[in-house]
Amino acid sequence: MAETTTDIFVNTVQALSLAKDLEGVMRIVRRVARELTGADGATFVLRDKDQCYYADEDAISPLWKGSRFPLESCISGWVMIHKEPALIRDIYEDSRIPAEAYRPTFVKSLAMVPIRKLDPIGAIGNYWANQHTPTPEQLRALQALADITAVSIENINIRNTLEQEVKDRTRALSESLIREKELGTLKSIFVSMASHEFRTPLGAILSSVTLAEKYTATEQQDKREKHYRRIKSSVRNLIDILNDFLSIDKLEAGTIVADMERFDLQALLQDNVEEVEGMRKENQSIRFTHTGPVTVCLDRKMMRNIVLNLLSNAVKYSERDIELVSLINEREILITVTDHGIGIPEAQQDKIFSKFFRASNSSSMQGTGLGLNIVKHYVNLQGGNIDFTSSPEGTTFRVRFPR
Ligand code: ADP
Repeated sequence: MAETTTDIFVNTVQALSLAKDLEGVMRIVRRVARELTGADGATFVLRDKDQCYYADEDAISPLWKGSRFPLESCISGWVMIHKEPALIRDIYEDSRIPAEAYRPTFVKSLAMVPIRKLDPIGAIGNYWANQHTPTPEQLRALQALADITAVSIENINIRNTLEQEVKDRTRALSESLIREKELGTLKSIFVSMASHEFRTPLGAILSSVTLAEKYTATEQQDKREKHYRRIKSSVRNLIDILNDFLSIDKLEAGTIVADMERFDLQALLQDNVEEVEGMRKENQSIRFTHTGPVTVCLDRKMMRNIVLNLLSNAVKYSERDIELVSLINEREILITVTDHGIGIPEAQQDKIFSKFFRASNSSSMQGTGLGLNIVKHYVNLQGGNIDFTSSPEGTTFRVRFPR
């Protein structure tokens, strides 16, 4: 039994309700459009701003699939602009038709209806190889097909928007869960690190205070002062650990920016050397040499932190002399810190700038594994780079900034 228009519509509506994307809709519509009117070809045209895009077609020979034309220069554009169908029995007699575009095709007659009449988003075209006028019934059916197409496209758009929204929210949620988890890990690392790292300076403070109390005689001033120095250095150590911890959070949040100013680098490095004097081991000296001009334009606080970290590591991880060398020429500013200490095991060298990383040969020494991570952030924030070479004979860190 031949399919009636109603049958075609029922099947079409069912098929469209299952279409997942625009391609699916077009595949159904281009076929049904021909079936409904017995046309020799059908096109599915989409409005793309001020152009008509011939997105799909089903015809006895090729039409314009993939082409774009300005709205004003084609009949599908006319249909969209005027929000009404166009019926043309002889295309070569109608001024709305660009004859040149039709000459290579089989088309003699056409019917074109807008998709979504109120505010057209496209058009459906029907074409005949011989002069033909569709019946009013066929035209109504074609317009009904265009209307149901509009509803399907809108549904797909709504579904896509919703799916995108669900995806965005899921991503935001999982990102915040990851951050939450990271914070949790960070907290527990901090607790175990703090309880370990705070014990030594706190113990030193307690023993120095106890001893200083005992030195009551005036002539014991020297001894008292020695203990005050120990207390000060231990407190400074505690503050440094806390500051490192706070900096990491801010650095990772990206809220820290370099505050560039002109200053005397040689003088700053000299101060740094004096600051680590108190940490030096017996028979360990720090030799500092500078070559070239002395003025730089960098972040003074960050530079202090970088050099102090590298120097205190050199002191901590070696027993012998340390060299701090700075060089400024017209191209760059170069600072190197060299020690002759335990070195960084080769297999672990690529992790050395990671947060909390401590090499396997350094576990017996105090440390948090935060210093070099902060140093790298600070160097990068000032547009510089840091690298190192290390062997069991010692380590050299090199920090470079373009001038
Ligand atoms: P910390 O010294 O507090 O552990 P850092 O981030 O400064 O943390 O250094 C990370 C790790 O890199 C250290 O634990 C140590 O294993 C290694 N390291 C850093 N500097 C040196 C050095 N000069 N010599 C040998 N090992 C070093």
